[in-house]
Amino acid sequence: MFELIIRDRCNGCNRCVEVCPTNVLEPGPEGIPVGARVEQCQTCFMCELYCKEDAIYVGPDRDKREPVNEAQIAASGLLGQYRRDSGWDEWASNPQYDNQIWQLGPYIQAGGKRSVERVKLRIAEQAKRSETSDQGVPGQPKQGL
Ligand code: SF4
Ligand code: SF4
Repeated sequence: MFELIIRDRCNGCNRCVEVCPTNVLEPGPEGIPVGARVEQCQTCFMCELYCKEDAIYVGPDRDKREPVNEAQIAASGLLGQYRRDSGWDEWASNPQYDNQIWQLGPYIQAGGKRSVERVKLRIAEQAKRSETSDQGVPGQPKQGL
């Protein structure tokens, strides 16, 4: 299951949010995505696969989370392993890593496009909500004034 995002590595691109097929991740208030619905994680590793910063760790157990911390995971050598072993990005030209996952390409891309639209919608809704709360209740002074 999804365990954590290493904050120091994350560039806030939200690619992991877009590609997650079960809507586990959410753009975070500080630019780092958060695991908002971890119970929906299906341990598919898509978020790891699409994270070029190797900032995400998904544990192998699909039924329960494992207690891990950033230092442990950073030292483990596991970050980026799945992306590398799948022959993605900078590993694509390395014959040692067979790029079989591209056989799923059309399905992943179709799912990815739908996810992008979904995330755009959520970000717009979030912006609208914070706009509304900034304006306060019509006819009443804003809180704290
Ligand atoms: S894909 Fe990686 S770098 Fe981008 S937001 Fe997610 S964790 Fe951060
Ligand atoms: S492992 Fe799959 S289901 Fe779980 S958070 Fe990552 S992309 Fe989503």
